Amino acid sequence: MALATDEQAVIDAVPKRLFIGGEWRDAAAGGTIAVEDPATGETLCEVADAQPEDAMAALDAACAAQAGWAAHPPRERGEILRRGFEELTGRADELALLMTLEMGKTIKESKAEIAYAAEFLRWFAEQAVRIDGRYSVAPNGAGRLLTMKGPVGPCLLITPWNFPMAMGTRKVGPAVAAGCTMVIKPAKLTPLSMLALADILDRAGLPPGVINVISAKSAGGSTGPLIEDGRLRKLSFTGSTAVGKKLIEQSASQVLNTSMELGGNAPFLVFEDADLDAAVEGALLAKMRNIGEACTAANRFHVAESLEHEFAERLAQRLGALKLGRGTEEGVDVGPLVDADTREKVSELVGDAVDRGANVLVGGSQVDGAGYFFQPTVLEGVTPDARLLKEEIFGPVAPVTGFGSEEDAIAAANDTEYGLVAYVFTRDLQRALRVCEGLETGMIGLNQGMVSNPAAPFGGVKQSGIGREGGYEGIEEYLETKYVAINL
Ligand code: NAD
Repeated sequence: MALATDEQAVIDAVPKRLFIGGEWRDAAAGGTIAVEDPATGETLCEVADAQPEDAMAALDAACAAQAGWAAHPPRERGEILRRGFEELTGRADELALLMTLEMGKTIKESKAEIAYAAEFLRWFAEQAVRIDGRYSVAPNGAGRLLTMKGPVGPCLLITPWNFPMAMGTRKVGPAVAAGCTMVIKPAKLTPLSMLALADILDRAGLPPGVINVISAKSAGGSTGPLIEDGRLRKLSFTGSTAVGKKLIEQSASQVLNTSMELGGNAPFLVFEDADLDAAVEGALLAKMRNIGEACTAANRFHVAESLEHEFAERLAQRLGALKLGRGTEEGVDVGPLVDADTREKVSELVGDAVDRGANVLVGGSQVDGAGYFFQPTVLEGVTPDARLLKEEIFGPVAPVTGFGSEEDAIAAANDTEYGLVAYVFTRDLQRALRVCEGLETGMIGLNQGMVSNPAAPFGGVKQSGIGREGGYEGIEEYLETKYVAINL
């Protein structure tokens, strides 16, 4: 199937080579990676496939640019980011189409991601001029203590496919603002958005070598040597907990500073005093944003027994009414999953829950034909041993279970090695605060189905990660503190 003219135009406009030291160049071995449209399974284009020597050239460029960039006036660093924000915002339609083509979500959702991604550039443009230190009198009065902050140094930024632009700007924004240089490795399923971002920031005035992008088939093969190289000072990773653990292990050899934004298994709690309309609305957002392919996606719904059936029925009605299709089409609510493996895993988890006694209220199957579509699904009566209560589903499937007491709800919510986000629906203020204090997560959506906000610290506890992105905390991940003891 030929692409529509505007689709072809946005694909053609993206540089498909590696961006190293301010230049676009082919991979050393000349190899390429095919980028697929998940709605059709057809190849959209090919991008360069970086080899270890390309990755090393990118690190060389980042290291060469580091000292100059650290000395660059913070205001100018911020203004480059600000121009990036304007450009992303001004070109939102075309960048959203590009994202929908490579990742599958609807144009409306891609536009929302471009706006979210752009906000990280604006937020950190404002933070670039707010990096400061302290001067204080030592407690014994004898000396002075000077505390200063500086860029951590060359960074490796590894991003996932599910939010191809925002997961990039959430790292690039603070790294640029702090005065760090970087090598970025986007996911091979969705490299186009990141290549477009590098092009935009290059045109916005980022000096050569500050940002380097390497797309690669072999993620470990290309980035492994960089992690072992003592010149690299920081690894910021967003992706699965399994890969994050491997990278933490690898990072031990150089005691590399790491930030880890990993997987989730978000509980969605609905108490008997909740506003049920708001809870169903929040559930729709928490479950279906990004086709369920979000680390923040509600993975399991724990509902007060008195409301369980009504909640499940109402959610099933809403999910059953959603229209599936290619994200570029008018009126489509839900795009395809990103690839065959992701869909297979979702099918397997639903099959496992049904085998253990869950009842399918709506959906339950993959859709035949081209693309990787899976029906929005609600399962009721899910047994505690079902795998989808323990594992990240990463698809449009909502398992609903009931709880008796508030203590049971908190215990069920915390019964996971993950701790990224939880959602709580209650109209009782005291209960809300008790439950928020009891939940072992980095973030909580209280009576709302979404938490992501560039001005807030995003991140998890337990096996959901280390560190925070966004908010005042985000830039700290890219700064080192140095203290000078002054003898007066
Ligand atoms: P993934 O872990 O498979 O891959 C993430 C990135 O790591 C990709 O760029 C991939 O190429 C790279 N990678 C894979 N193996 C590697 C290795 N050995 N060495 C170096 N790099 C390697 O994850 P994914 O499937 O792309 O994304 C989905 C996962 O990301 C989910 O678990 C989701 O919860 C998580 N996620 C977390 C957040 C967050 O902020 N906490 C945000 C988005 C996604």
